[in-house]
Amino acid sequence: PKHQSVALIIGVTGIVGNSLAEILPLADTPGGPWRVYGVARRPRPSWNDDNPVHYVRCDISDPEDVQSKLSVLTEVTHLFYVTWTNRSTEIENCDANGKMFKNVLDVLIPNCPNLQHICLQTGRKHYIGPFESYGKIKTNDTPYHEDLPRLNYPNFYYTLEDILFEEVQKKEGLTWSVHRPGNIFGFSPNSMMNLVGTLCVYAAICKHEGVPLRFPGSKIAWNGYSDCSDADLIAEHQIWAAVDPYAKNEAFNVSNGDVFKWKHFWKELAEQFGVECGEYEEGQKLSLQRLMKDKGPVWDEIVKKNGLTPTKLNEVGIWWFGDITLGNECPLDTMNKSKEHGFLGFRNSKNSFISWIDKVKANKIVP
Ligand code: NAD
Repeated sequence: PKHQSVALIIGVTGIVGNSLAEILPLADTPGGPWRVYGVARRPRPSWNDDNPVHYVRCDISDPEDVQSKLSVLTEVTHLFYVTWTNRSTEIENCDANGKMFKNVLDVLIPNCPNLQHICLQTGRKHYIGPFESYGKIKTNDTPYHEDLPRLNYPNFYYTLEDILFEEVQKKEGLTWSVHRPGNIFGFSPNSMMNLVGTLCVYAAICKHEGVPLRFPGSKIAWNGYSDCSDADLIAEHQIWAAVDPYAKNEAFNVSNGDVFKWKHFWKELAEQFGVECGEYEEGQKLSLQRLMKDKGPVWDEIVKKNGLTPTKLNEVGIWWFGDITLGNECPLDTMNKSKEHGFLGFRNSKNSFISWIDKVKANKIVP
């Protein structure tokens, strides 16, 4: 069939990029049939190989590479921007991430006559502030909604939005949407923030060493309400905004629509790996970064013994991210705006948690 829409996913091996790469090519995806291009920096990984996506290896921080690889993709109609880079300060994040996004837009907008819509993924840190600001600035009250004012602190999400708002004006009729997920449950061994994958690796190491699955978080995270954003749901949300006229030129939260407690999900995790379930421990907070500091060789042994896909521990176990997520109260958002604009998608977070654990196992990242 002739393709009605042509997608370009920037960050196609990431936690949402991988979901977009699976969902966009399906026959019943809205706006289709879709022809799909996907950009990432490294060679294509085996677990991303089955998707019918034209893989483009390109470093979007390098304007020359972007010019040479992306200027030829003239038939692109929709851009899905699902990537970022992490520097040591937020000021540097603003600069580096702004440049990456601008590099892509500078090439696409003049070269793609049919470019219609840009989906930009940012996140709930729009409301919380960047990690470095935690505890230092006053934030708005929860549940977060899209109309809240920006915080008075540098934030690369604000930089990306401002670039977006300015750039879309360069092309008549070009529309945009901003998507703000919370902690994402999805699959990508290449992601810079992957909670489910990190917890699976932690559980596999506990199982291997015959120790209980201790909860390395805070009391509030153990007992309080948390939520999450399923990567497939985020992909559906972006595709909805890309094709539905009622979703144009708006920012939207995107989360599963229910809440859970880690004390309940911890039991599920322990069960999935056949390891004794620990719980929240009073006293000094445990830290994944500390617990997992010397486990590189143990991981190599687990990989070898079980014939797993070769990975490095510090790539698949993102301990700093686990510590932040499980160490703090999860500030909740509201999905009212998405619903009012016509997006009624949701996920059962427990099923979502278990299905992504299954996927980590099925791809032989953990035993
Ligand atoms: P990710 O880390 O899972 O994936 C990033 C992708 O971009 C990978 O495919 C990587 O190869 C690619 N990439 C990185 N640098 C590149 C470069 N220079 N050139 C080309 N490709 C490059 O991404 P993510 O977590 O989906 O992050 C996207 C946005 O979502 C970020 O703003 C992030 O803060 C936000 N977010 C993430 C989470 C989460 O739990 N992961 C939660 C909320 C918000």
